[in-house]
Amino acid sequence: MNDTPQFYDVVDSDGNVVETAAEQQSQPIDIRKARKQYVTIRRPRVTSCGHKLDLSRKPVHINCPSCVFAWFQNHGEICQQLDEMYNIHGPDSIIQLQGIKFYKQWRKFMSTVAQWKQANVIEEEK
Ligand SMILES: [Zn+2]
Repeated sequence: MNDTPQFYDVVDSDGNVVETAAEQQSQPIDIRKARKQYVTIRRPRVTSCGHKLDLSRKPVHINCPSCVFAWFQNHGEICQQLDEMYNIHGPDSIIQLQGIKFYKQWRKFMSTVAQWKQANVIEEEK
């Protein structure tokens, strides 16, 4: 495998040479800049608490209501599956799989959403 980077002439939309390959080659590669651009994973922050949110796994700050709420909001499918599990097998199935804290936070989230829905229905009826 050839790992040396390739350089090409850079032209603008009119075909004028902006930067030649030789010019590019003479510039040192800023490894920190490149790493930041290609390797670093930038995670969104939850605005109300400032914690970083990792959506690829279970909520890290399980005791932080803002983080947990944001996590559940972004995982509608999981909430639905948990709801099905809850209706069929009861709360113990969720507690055994995910733990009591996760279960409690999920219940809080679901009841909040239910309250919002109810409030919206009342608003529309007025
Ligand atoms: Zn948080």
